[in-house]
Amino acid sequence: QAKRMGGDRIEPFRPSYKAIGSSRIALETDLRRAFDRHELTLAFQPIIALEDGRIAGFEALIRWDHPRRGKISPNEFVPLAERSGLIIQIGQFALEEAAKRLSDWHRVTGDTSLFMSVNVSSRQLITQDLISDVETVLTRYRLPPASLKLEMTESLVMDNPELSAQLLARIVELGVGLSLDDFGTGYSSLAYLMRFPFDTLKIDQSFLRHNAQPQRPVILKSIVTMAQDLGLRIVAEGIESRDDAASLREMGCDFGQSFLFSKPLNQEEARQALLAKDSGLKRTA
Ligand code: C2E
Ligand code: MG
Ligand code: MG
Ligand code: MG
Repeated sequence: QAKRMGGDRIEPFRPSYKAIGSSRIALETDLRRAFDRHELTLAFQPIIALEDGRIAGFEALIRWDHPRRGKISPNEFVPLAERSGLIIQIGQFALEEAAKRLSDWHRVTGDTSLFMSVNVSSRQLITQDLISDVETVLTRYRLPPASLKLEMTESLVMDNPELSAQLLARIVELGVGLSLDDFGTGYSSLAYLMRFPFDTLKIDQSFLRHNAQPQRPVILKSIVTMAQDLGLRIVAEGIESRDDAASLREMGCDFGQSFLFSKPLNQEEARQALLAKDSGLKRTA
């Protein structure tokens, strides 16, 4: 079992790839090979409507199960992929797969308001023709544009705010949602809200997980109030207790996404969770 330290998970017995430069290069090589061999997959974590507990959507999360090293966290390999440029192809794969799954789930549930949120990195926005890729999957899978959301972190667009703002505006024109991920962890969070056309704010899990600071309720309440006043939907990440879920709901937070409700699921499990009538993740529709 991993032990916790200062909120970071320390995994024993497996030295981090980050530790040694040559290992990093080995990892990059392995990652490219894994991608070519279709060994990357997506997991889907339910995003729960706090109001009634139903699954409102999912976040698609990339997964790599290394044949020798076991599961490697995207926190470890996504930054490498960003550096090597492979993130472009990984991102296209994630978008395509997520869209395909969503269209299947729309079909089996008959509920096209179910949404899918896909993480996108800055490299994709700037380098790749992300907009045409998004248009392509919307058409190919006949998705209502609003059922697809792109998640971005703040670190994004620093280098090129003008271009980024233009590109993001075109994505919004397509009707696709735009979520500001990990809100509150960067120093420019508020500036981003003014500059870019986000419609959803995801409160970073550091505000919820192992956090019993006395200031916490005030900060959470302020974030929720601000987001509401700006007309944004709100997702709280990493909610740890039913009490927190209840108080966030009372504050007016729309959604929760955390292990409390469900861990990320494989596609079969996700489909079953959607169809289950009696599970804790029950749909009302
Ligand atoms: P993120 O986008 O903020 O995704 C949420 C992360 O929090 C996921 O980790 C999820 O498993 C984890 N999480 C959710 N609820 C809880 C909870 O209650 N407790 C704890 N301890 N963790 C929780 P994951 O899947 O390891 O992903 C890590 C990060 O990797 C993501 O953070 C995202 O920044 C990046 N990532 C994942 N998939 C992709 C992708 O397809 N493309 C890009 N560019 N980045 C990705
Ligand atoms: Mg995300
Ligand atoms: Mg996040
Ligand atoms: Mg994150």
